[in-house]
Amino acid sequence: AAKSAGRPGYRVFDQEMRDRQHDRREMEDDLRMALRNEEFEVFYQPFVDSGRKAVSGFEALLRWRHPEKGLISPGVFIPLAEETGLIEEIGVWCMQTAFREAASWNTDMTISVNFSPVQFKSAKLVEDVDAALRASGLDPRRVQIEVTESLFIDESENILSTLKTFRDRGLTISMDDFGTGYSSLGYLSRFPFDKIKIDQSFVRDLSRPENIAIVRSVIGLSRALDMKVLAEGIESREQMEILYAEGCREMQGFFFSRPVPASEMPLVITEITQRWNTDLAAATGAK
Ligand code: C2E
Ligand code: MG
Ligand code: MG
Ligand code: MG
Repeated sequence: AAKSAGRPGYRVFDQEMRDRQHDRREMEDDLRMALRNEEFEVFYQPFVDSGRKAVSGFEALLRWRHPEKGLISPGVFIPLAEETGLIEEIGVWCMQTAFREAASWNTDMTISVNFSPVQFKSAKLVEDVDAALRASGLDPRRVQIEVTESLFIDESENILSTLKTFRDRGLTISMDDFGTGYSSLGYLSRFPFDKIKIDQSFVRDLSRPENIAIVRSVIGLSRALDMKVLAEGIESREQMEILYAEGCREMQGFFFSRPVPASEMPLVITEITQRWNTDLAAATGAK
């Protein structure tokens, strides 16, 4: 603010800054309270295997039911939770809940949990995962951890060894939002991921030849590196058909289902299964 002093409009700017800082602090306090008051919920979004024509797993997606502001999206509160370090506790809570709920479902489907890069700074992460596995009795082979490329911005041996430890336990590791981060591809050769998730920004507009080219090369890359590939953000039958034709089998998006509370999961599985028997089958197998 010192630099802008004297310029016209700086007062307005300062006031805006103060407002924003105030909002932020308020939200930070709210976030702390939220953990204590159990205002978080875990929603689940299925991903499907269009080869097997079945739901193959669910991604756990955090929701915050704020007492006054209503449902707040993780896009808003996760960055704040990361800045304040609260993500450590929130992340562990989300994982424990997801493991416990998934263990109670009568399936062997995968449960996929997002881990923030900040969580990897915690010396306790592996311990927390082990404890959550023990407490839930969940088979570790059903667990998938989603990480983003930002985890690899600074190459650290610690991160690689943590990921390897997870793998030794039987967990699988997924690279989320692939192609949107700023890290080099070097980490792909240093750590064997199980799955690449093609970011929804490439799926959104497949009429652009650039996006088809990117999708095609990511699928090729995943094959060459012997990793699975999943396309995120599928909203239409057309997108599904194009991706299927390109060789992508695992898919996730509003076209199949929005993220839903655990109680709605059985219904979602039934609905998707029924749709394979009717309209979805025609979009894939028939080609
Ligand atoms: P993500 O892990 O890439 O999750 C996918 C996001 O895309 C979810 O948003 C999901 O609701 C949304 N989505 C799924 N299908 C479609 C579609 O067809 N169209 C559109 N427009 N969107 C779709 P959500 O739940 O708001 O989460 C946003 C991000 O917040 C997640 O992106 C993830 O990075 C982060 N996040 C969510 N839960 C957690 C968590 O428990 N821990 C951490 N560290 N991050 C989380
Ligand atoms: Mg994810
Ligand atoms: Mg994603
Ligand atoms: Mg994302």
